[in-house]
Amino acid sequence: MSLTVKPLHPIFAAELIGADLTQPPDAELVRAVEDAMARYAVTVVRDARISDEDHIRFSRAFGPLELPPHLAGTSAKRRLRAELFDASNLDANNEIIPYDSEKRRLAKGAERFHSDSSFNSLPTKWSLLLGHIVPPEGGDTHFIDTRAVYDALPAERRARIEPLVAIHDFWRGRERTGLTGVTDAMRASMPAVTHPLVRTMPYGRRSLYIGGHATGIVGWSEPEALALLDELYDFATQERFIYEHKWRQWDLVIWDNRCTLHRATPLQTDRYKRDVRRTTVNEYGPETSANAAAY
Ligand code: MN
Repeated sequence: MSLTVKPLHPIFAAELIGADLTQPPDAELVRAVEDAMARYAVTVVRDARISDEDHIRFSRAFGPLELPPHLAGTSAKRRLRAELFDASNLDANNEIIPYDSEKRRLAKGAERFHSDSSFNSLPTKWSLLLGHIVPPEGGDTHFIDTRAVYDALPAERRARIEPLVAIHDFWRGRERTGLTGVTDAMRASMPAVTHPLVRTMPYGRRSLYIGGHATGIVGWSEPEALALLDELYDFATQERFIYEHKWRQWDLVIWDNRCTLHRATPLQTDRYKRDVRRTTVNEYGPETSANAAAY
């Protein structure tokens, strides 16, 4: 196998060319992907054309799977197998769920920059999202390199945030994007967790760990915490830090949730199906749901 890497943006994100994911991943491929991810944080494999089974096998080469959360208050039948997070606009019969319908209200929170599963107490490592059906317009994914964001912060800002611990609360984050009617049972199914605001990557670089699920700071009042988190969010979402991924069918896009943020751009119409399926891997196990601890 001859593997090459082609950068997609001045700061981060690259395409890995020459990978055949239909075969069990060998040591050379695993190392090439780990190296690309350490440098670029977002890696795209074009034309991956793999089954759900191959997608899951490839993902497990990089860590134990994190299974999609059980959401109290949402009882929709699953379209995909339990290992896969369904980021589509489709119901269990593969029919389009209208953008304005109640059923899609939760997904709209993903239009704010976030880090997948930062509401999980286990350390989420990567997301691997495969484009089975890609619409001709809309549904782009935008990424931010929060290592570059951290590096660009003024030194006094870095020193001030260094000791802080952030509160990541899925439901509070959704409420901030307009969701109403969150019940106590829903909150109990996904309680808030804490993570350091500044993370150190295994290779030594530091990153800002914020995003849509970060809604508080330990020991601070909510208004004070949100003022700082919103200021950091506004700084991070400057255009120079953003890579905009335009999907092609069978793109596999891998991102490191520890040092990137991402958001979905909305589908502008209900004319198109978008079938995108995600695995998520953690730094370590057990292989369990992102909120299994609550059960
Ligand atoms: Mn996401």
